Amino acid sequence: MAAAASSSDWPGRYHHIDQILDKPGPRTDPGFLAGDGVKDFLRGQAKILVIGAGGLGCEILANLALTGFKDIHVIDMDTIDISNLNRQFLFRQKDVGKPKATVAAEFIMKRVPGVTVTPYFGKIQDKDEEYYMQFNLVICGLDSVEARRWINATLVNMVDPEVPESLKPLIDGGTEGFKGQARVILPGITSCYECSLDMLNKQTQFPICTIANTPRLPEHCIEWASVLEWPRVFADKKLDNDDPDDIDWLYKTALNRAREFKIEGVTWSLTQGVVKNIIPAIASTNAIIAAACCNEAFKIATSSAAFLNNYFMLIGTDGVYSYTFEHEKRQECPVCGGEALDLAISPELTLEQLIETLTERQDIQIKKPSLSTPTKQLYLQAPPQLEQATRPNLEKKVSELVPPSGEVTVTASTLPFSLSLRIAYTS
Ligand SMILES: [Zn+2]
Repeated sequence: MAAAASSSDWPGRYHHIDQILDKPGPRTDPGFLAGDGVKDFLRGQAKILVIGAGGLGCEILANLALTGFKDIHVIDMDTIDISNLNRQFLFRQKDVGKPKATVAAEFIMKRVPGVTVTPYFGKIQDKDEEYYMQFNLVICGLDSVEARRWINATLVNMVDPEVPESLKPLIDGGTEGFKGQARVILPGITSCYECSLDMLNKQTQFPICTIANTPRLPEHCIEWASVLEWPRVFADKKLDNDDPDDIDWLYKTALNRAREFKIEGVTWSLTQGVVKNIIPAIASTNAIIAAACCNEAFKIATSSAAFLNNYFMLIGTDGVYSYTFEHEKRQECPVCGGEALDLAISPELTLEQLIETLTERQDIQIKKPSLSTPTKQLYLQAPPQLEQATRPNLEKKVSELVPPSGEVTVTASTLPFSLSLRIAYTS
């Protein structure tokens, strides 16, 4: 290989981008520094963090490097699996087993000389505010709601109104089959990820009684095999979703049950899909959404054009349909709203039933919540001593524990924020 080529070795690389940056357009921001100022910023100071180096992440990294971002960081906790190779184009067969972040970074740096990609193989939760503070922009290509909620809450919490640089624009992309969305979140200013939690597709959950007694769908039979039969047959062995033998057992068990109830459609891959909760990933949907995200990153970093306000959705399941709208802030958003969520419940409701209600609510989506009032602990999931001490409360009525209009704080170990409820009793 010749001496490491820098981007200046090939003056043409950013020729087209320069045409946008050399002069203001009709809708450019008044703060736009046409010419060298903005190019120096983009190719010198601008530091961008990419979260996720999977299907979306590979596309995002390539696009950012090719539009002129030079200081790119990437975080991903996964290693490369053979099943990723059909769409995660920065990876090759020889890379299977290696960390995605590291391999992606090396590929981009080799392909686009002059760009530095700094990988981190690990979880976003490993990093603290000081780490996130160094970036100008954060762009997410994740498939996990939990990770998105975490980074969203972290960036909202970081905003100090006295320090403008503490506001880190968050661009979030997501895909599911032919559908996708891209959005721009200005933490504390626009609606945040948590504000729109109720827009997510409801996780398909089948009632246990249906699974146990009246299966109608192939999915019911598979759930029966994994949720009821597996623990009954293998009391001491945990189901391993990644073990083909375990999936095979589930498949055969579900198939027998399906025959018994004359249900068609149980297949090996459906079994795997149901137990692993696999969402189909389509390379071209990833490409569209990643491109939308990167254009927004470029516009925000350079002020060269108006950026997305604030939610773009793509629906490719029925022709090609797209829609852009301004998602509004929710006053009772536990992350950016600051107001308590009003909850009217029956005075007969027990604490256990309240917890159940909370876990089922689409706008809250909390697993294993712990509840307390300003003066007492109602129920704590951990540590074990406190769980045991507060467990008797589960059977009590909430109305015996919390006065009308009383506030209840809800926390969960998976979420970096707490939720305030204001309880009212229906008569
Ligand atoms: Zn919010």
